[in-house]
Amino acid sequence: MENTVKQLVEKYGNDRSRLMDILIDIQETTGYINSEAIEEIAQLLAMSRIDVEQTITFYHFFSTKPKGKYAVYLNTSPVAYMFGREAVKETFEKELGIKFGDVTKDGLVGLYDTPCIGMNDQEPAAIINHKIFTRLTPYRVREIVKLMKEGKNMDELRNESYGDGKNHLPSLRSMVSSNIRRKGMILSDDYQSGTVIRDFLPKMSPESVIAEIKHSHIRGRGGAGFPTGLKWEFCRRAKGSKHYVVCNADEGEPGTFKDRVILTEKPELVFEGMALAGYAIGGDEGILYLRYEYRYLNNYLLEVLQNMRDNNLLGKNISGIEGFDFDIRIQFGAGSYVCGEETALLESLEGKRGEPRDKPPFPVEKGYLGQPTIVNNVETFATAVRIVQNGGEWFTQFGTEDSTGTKILSISGDCMFPGVYEVNWGFNVEDMLNMVGAYEVQAVQVGGPSGTLIGPEEFHRTLGYSDLSTGGSMIIFNKQRNLLRDVVVNFMEFFIDESCGSCSTCRNMTQVLNNKLKKILVGKGVPKDLIDLKSWSKNLIASRCGLGQTAANPIISSLKNFPHLYSALIQKDKQFDEGFDMEKAIQASCTYVGRVPNLNHH
Ligand code: SF4
Repeated sequence: MENTVKQLVEKYGNDRSRLMDILIDIQETTGYINSEAIEEIAQLLAMSRIDVEQTITFYHFFSTKPKGKYAVYLNTSPVAYMFGREAVKETFEKELGIKFGDVTKDGLVGLYDTPCIGMNDQEPAAIINHKIFTRLTPYRVREIVKLMKEGKNMDELRNESYGDGKNHLPSLRSMVSSNIRRKGMILSDDYQSGTVIRDFLPKMSPESVIAEIKHSHIRGRGGAGFPTGLKWEFCRRAKGSKHYVVCNADEGEPGTFKDRVILTEKPELVFEGMALAGYAIGGDEGILYLRYEYRYLNNYLLEVLQNMRDNNLLGKNISGIEGFDFDIRIQFGAGSYVCGEETALLESLEGKRGEPRDKPPFPVEKGYLGQPTIVNNVETFATAVRIVQNGGEWFTQFGTEDSTGTKILSISGDCMFPGVYEVNWGFNVEDMLNMVGAYEVQAVQVGGPSGTLIGPEEFHRTLGYSDLSTGGSMIIFNKQRNLLRDVVVNFMEFFIDESCGSCSTCRNMTQVLNNKLKKILVGKGVPKDLIDLKSWSKNLIASRCGLGQTAANPIISSLKNFPHLYSALIQKDKQFDEGFDMEKAIQASCTYVGRVPNLNHH
């Protein structure tokens, strides 16, 4: 083990900012990170043991104890439950004789819950040793367990062959469906990869690239909506010994999966957008921060990057432009939702716990390793290429005045055609429901748990920054679903698990609110509990980052839009029985927090 650790640390240049890579490699090599390895890493990197342990314990996929030769991570998103998760879970437990959270006595299999793994359109889904298993059924689980007991490898487990080293895409598509249902400028097949770098950049200055991006009025596609052109301009002007381009591919918001599809189907477009951004801001290094749940894409993406180098679309003097040097590496996370927040992501990139930083300074001034850095979403980089190709003016034809261009939606839940849809901003919810074949709809969760839960009276609303802002996640619930038990509680528990724990509001109040919600759900709530839910939720605004600031949104938006679900469960006392309209009172005192513009997920 000592040799392995030493070799791995050396592989990453004895660089402590590469601690995540070192830990991921050890975890994958030995199945866990033991005490000796921690000590060895600390010594080799001249860090304290506590610092190494802090990073390990922060992330879901690291462990200091053996996790089993086969580590099964079963998704806990509401859609997984809607499509049979409970039966899948029970079958795993019955076949293996253990509960979730345990490892079999012989160390063969460990069973674990994990939040949304980006497969909402093909649930129930699980990750087993970095491979994805979708549309699980009890029958399929019995087959998988039998093969695990026979010691089969992962390819045999999936009954498919993966990657001959030449073309990974067919096997990726057989593992996970892309489910592209509607194409627009990003997902269309009419773009020849490399066109902008080859044919446009040699004739454009970095300033003119930024001018086109600004003219397009594109705003960040991660949900926060900051103007992309301004971000690039600020970064270009910021002083630093190096400028960095970071692509946020940590889409952890339950219900979102469009970045997974873009990276599967259009990775060249994303990497070209990163190179374009590097040219614009004067940076020569790009990092794709990819969530660990998408580890299965690694070899494929490395192959795409190499092809781009071979074609002079990355590397030195790109496309013959003297001094235009730019390359990209992939950095994996290790399972943490808050790392979608840009400063938490930067901390993680530096090998630390993914705790959001205080702002200012903003990343454009002091980002990765203290240098000027732009952090943009996968979709934003892909869109930037089409903007430079066609011009900022062309782009403004699509969408609305304050929300230009297209938006890629991840649509899942109770509909006939779940998947990825690229639509113009300004699309309304009613049309969206018709498009995906959704009937008897009770509610739509727009923008994941930090977004809002709307009912039919709001289906006329449109997608856009001035109305329903969204990073792209849309989950549909029909009239048979129990919204409070199966959705609101699930989302609150998600926030409780994912809080980094820095702020007492976020750490404690989410628990308190969830306990109160559960009290109401078991029929023990009184009107005062609803008043408390509303007023106590406001305390979360004081949290440092968007996770805490929006963590009460599942409760606030369900109270506002579905007051009858709460009032039906409340024990009325005399004071409220006499002519008191509880639903009206609930709605009148609800303040929806809305999306807070510093949580940059997806
Ligand atoms: Fe951490 Fe929550 Fe505070 Fe964000 S709001 S910094 S996730 S404790």
